[in-house]
Amino acid sequence: MDDNALAFLQRLLEAPSPSGYERPVQDVVRDYVRRFADDVRTDLHGNVIAARNPGAPLRLMLAGHCDQIGLVVQHIDAEGFCYVQPIGGWDTQVLLGQRLTVWNAGGAVPGIMARKPIHLLSEEEKKQVPKFKDLWLDIGARNKEEADQMVRIGDPVTLELAYRRMAGDFACSPAMDDKCGLWVVVEALRRTAGKQLRCGLFAVSTVQEEIGLRGARTSAYSIDPQVGIAVDVTHATDCPTIDKKQEGDVRLGGGPVIYRGPNMNPAVVDLLMATADEAEIAYQVAASGKATGTDANTMQISRAGMATGLVSIPNRYMHSPVEMISLTDIDRAADLLAAFALRLEEGTDFTP
Ligand SMILES: [Zn+2]
Repeated sequence: MDDNALAFLQRLLEAPSPSGYERPVQDVVRDYVRRFADDVRTDLHGNVIAARNPGAPLRLMLAGHCDQIGLVVQHIDAEGFCYVQPIGGWDTQVLLGQRLTVWNAGGAVPGIMARKPIHLLSEEEKKQVPKFKDLWLDIGARNKEEADQMVRIGDPVTLELAYRRMAGDFACSPAMDDKCGLWVVVEALRRTAGKQLRCGLFAVSTVQEEIGLRGARTSAYSIDPQVGIAVDVTHATDCPTIDKKQEGDVRLGGGPVIYRGPNMNPAVVDLLMATADEAEIAYQVAASGKATGTDANTMQISRAGMATGLVSIPNRYMHSPVEMISLTDIDRAADLLAAFALRLEEGTDFTP
């Protein structure tokens, strides 16, 4: 992977983007794609759509969601402690004791997610999973007046954003879900540059996936593509306590995961696999018997229907501060999607 591309991934991971507050990460995307996209636009929902060859009759949409789970400040009490609502699906147990950042109009305010110490918990409290009402955000303010100078109701909150390289080609960060998938779709667009592209290729940084797959719906409507592939993370099952019989066999470093099942168009699946085989790109296969919880769900039933695929990046510890992926997996996924796009032309038929 080249240094510029790796630096782009790091910038994505270090830009805050709770659902509905994606502008900082979209600025990073806009700045990067203008070097190789023929057209870049942002719609009223906040999706950034970067295209090459946009006038071609066959249109392919690649979707990676840029939003991350977060929190929003909803109340500040007299002592200056903040209470928050979740944005997206949190395990409160991984939030406890975390360093957080409140993003106000002027920048970043450090905070921590607290509850009373173990010594003071009752036996009953020790057994219970804490609820959001039992936790508070401490920003170090001495009272409400001081807190009001620092944060406002409605300010978004993220985990402390920090990218960390691990042994080998593994890397860890909050919000690998789905900034690594976003990286893949943008990088796939870049990797078609200078090659003969016969379809219109639209790489979309979709918003608000974590609260109901919402940006994929609005962007798919305006692009009106015949074919679409969502790139998101999926659970790696190569760590303790996860049952492969229930969740499938997915390894970090085993390559991108091509999904099969009713949410996926069989001709798209076949072409993804044939493309990977020809390009000698290692991949894994997983199945889902229902509409997936990804952008592929809304894309497939957009307008009169879209031939949809789902390519997933193996991810350990999803929705935690330490989401782990393999950099080789995302590199291969970008190669796969670029090669897929280069095979499409007017008349390519995906009717099942
Ligand atoms: Zn996701």
